[in-house]
Amino acid sequence: MGAFPAIKMLTKPPHANNLAVSGDFGNQRDGMEDIAKFIEGFREFKANYFAEGRGPGRLLFDRLREGQRPKSLIIGCSDSRVDPAILFGCDPGDLFVVRNVANLVPPCEEGKGYHGVSAALEFGVLTLEVRHIIVLGHAHCGGIGALMSGQCAFSSAGFIENWMKIADGALEKAKSELPGGTPEELARACEQAAILVSLENLRTFPWIRARVDAGLLMLVGWYFDIEDGSLYGYSEETGRFELIA
Ligand SMILES: [Zn+2]
Repeated sequence: MGAFPAIKMLTKPPHANNLAVSGDFGNQRDGMEDIAKFIEGFREFKANYFAEGRGPGRLLFDRLREGQRPKSLIIGCSDSRVDPAILFGCDPGDLFVVRNVANLVPPCEEGKGYHGVSAALEFGVLTLEVRHIIVLGHAHCGGIGALMSGQCAFSSAGFIENWMKIADGALEKAKSELPGGTPEELARACEQAAILVSLENLRTFPWIRARVDAGLLMLVGWYFDIEDGSLYGYSEETGRFELIA
C-alpha cells in the first residue's frame, strides 16, 4: 500500500498548479515538466501509430506487432544529444539499438559475466540477422573525456573508468598521431579511434567475423560532429573519416 508513490504520481501529466513550486524545489519542477512533455509526446505517438482509422503509422504497427525485422544494428552513445532514431529519421522497427557510455564494443569474452553488449549483438546478428552493424561515435563525448583525463569528472563509483579501458588503445593512437595536438584535437582523434577499436572488437566475435567474411554483414563506423551537424564515415581506402552529409 503506497509502496511506489512516485510511480503512481507520474501516470498523469502534472497540472500547472502542481508545478507552482519555488526555491529549493526548482530542480524537481524541471523534472516534472519533462515528464509532462514525455506523456504528451506519447499521446502524439499513440495517435499516429495506434488510433483507429487514422494516423500515418497505423499500418506500420499492424505489421510490427507480428515481430521485428530491422536490417541494422547501431551501437550508439548514451548521450542524450545523439539519439540514432532521431538523427537518421527512423521509424519504429528500423533499428536494433545498443547504447552505452562512449558507444563501445568490448572484445568477445568467455565467462559468466553480465555481457549486455554481447547479448544484444548475439540477438541482433544470430536471431534478427541484421545486415549492418553501425558504430556511431560523436564529438564532445563525455566518456572519451573521462578516458583522456584519466578519471571520471562526474562521478567516482568506478564503473565508467573501468568501462572506458576498452578504449585505452584509442587514446594511445591519438596521442602518438598528434603529439602536439590541442586537447580538442586529441579528443576528436580519440573519439574516432575508439570507433575503430569497437569495429576491431566486433570481429573478435567468431559469428560476426564469419558473416563479415562471407559478405553477409557489413561493419560501419560513423562519427557525428555535434559542432556543425556533420556526419562522417570511416573509409578503409583512405584510412580516414570522410564527410558523408
Ligand atoms: Zn558519448
